Amino acid sequence: MTHKDALIVGAGFSGAVIARTLAEAGQSVTVIDARPHVAGNCYTERDAETDVMIHVYGPHIFHTGDEEVWDYVNRFGVFRRYDHRVKTTSQGAVYLMPVNLHTINQFYGKTFGPAEAAAHIAAQASSDIDEPANFEEQAMKFIGPDLYGAFFKGYTEKQWGCSPRDLPASILKRLPVRFSYNDSYFAHPHQGMPEEGYTAIVAAILDHPGIELRLGTEYEAGMEEGFGHLFWSGPLDGYFGYALGRLGYRTLDFERFTEEGDYQGCAVMNYGDSDVPFTRITEHKHFAPWESHEGSVCYREFSRECGPDDIPYYPIRMVEEKKLLADYVAKAQALEGVTFVGRLGSYRYLDMDVTIREALDCARGHLAAQAAGSPTPAFSVDPL
Ligand SMILES: Cc1cc2nc3c(=O)[nH]c(=O)nc-3n(C[C@H](O)[C@H](O)[C@H](O)COP(=O)(O)OP(=O)(O)OC[C@H]3O[C@@H](n4cnc5c(N)ncnc54)[C@H](O)[C@@H]3O)c2cc1C
Repeated sequence: MTHKDALIVGAGFSGAVIARTLAEAGQSVTVIDARPHVAGNCYTERDAETDVMIHVYGPHIFHTGDEEVWDYVNRFGVFRRYDHRVKTTSQGAVYLMPVNLHTINQFYGKTFGPAEAAAHIAAQASSDIDEPANFEEQAMKFIGPDLYGAFFKGYTEKQWGCSPRDLPASILKRLPVRFSYNDSYFAHPHQGMPEEGYTAIVAAILDHPGIELRLGTEYEAGMEEGFGHLFWSGPLDGYFGYALGRLGYRTLDFERFTEEGDYQGCAVMNYGDSDVPFTRITEHKHFAPWESHEGSVCYREFSRECGPDDIPYYPIRMVEEKKLLADYVAKAQALEGVTFVGRLGSYRYLDMDVTIREALDCARGHLAAQAAGSPTPAFSVDPL
């Protein structure tokens, strides 16, 4: 085999951005992906029946405060302004999310101003919890039992498959309530949807003469022979053949259904009640309000424990998993010539903009290390 600079496993944002950065520096790289398509979990495709753009692995909204990343993605396609707003159905009514002044007034049947609402919520909150020991106690300390029961308890139980008492308090870092009528889901200055979907953006990133792309190609041991370096954006434990056990993930099942016209009037409707088995319904055409479609495609989303044959979505990162993660990190750090990247390679939840930022930094760090004659570390960001 002829010498190439790098083999990159995974054609999601991580692999594509690393490949592009190395190729633009004059290197020659090969990208492989087990799937028959690029873009990893951000993959979008047009539905054959309705022509609606579908977010196949769950809804993806691009949002960032990182100017370089925003300029970067805009180099590879047109982004249209899209302001994400989420509703939740709970206890027989529909509310705005995240919980804001409108939600509070609607929920309590009041006409509070911001200060009155803040005082009301403070009066509901438990004042006797100093150091919350878990998610539920943290929520009680911040907002009290009413809002917790309506908007957090059932949703969290379904999402994580366990009691919120078994989840760390750190999940709710800040007060999860706004005392204003701002119901924009994300606070970043840039929010958008790629006009032609994420697949087209990632395909454009990979479209460079220095990049060879092989889809439908699962990594096999030894494939990196003849390459100067291996970048791995697959599962960290998968690289080691799960030798120490499997890092825990939640997986998602999507139940597709179609409707004529408009099914729910918004892109994402959460379901807060425990007796509704799904967490949310996504109606994909609302992600492209500039398009018009008679038919509509919706996904009911169910969360469950990830088995060996399922797609890993959300890393669990509880005490047990973190212990196992530390063991895999030690194994990875003992290797030479392999760098683990991305959401699966570092076993962290990463938004797309963070994924791109880390991939840019990782590839630039690799080029700088090569120029200095020093090795590239196994991780460019500490996964622990
Ligand atoms: C349900 C859900 C919703 C999300 N919504 C948002 C959102 O709204 N906004 C946002 O910014 N981010 C969102 N994200 C995060 C986003 O999905 C990630 O930032 C992004 O997918 C990370 O890209 P990646 O390249 O690291 O990983 P991936 O996209 O997972 O790509 C990894 C690729 O590696 C390939 N691979 C793995 N193992 C092998 C192997 N052995 N051989 C060959 N190929 C292999 C896989 O097939 C895959 O294509 C969401 C994530 C989830 C789970």
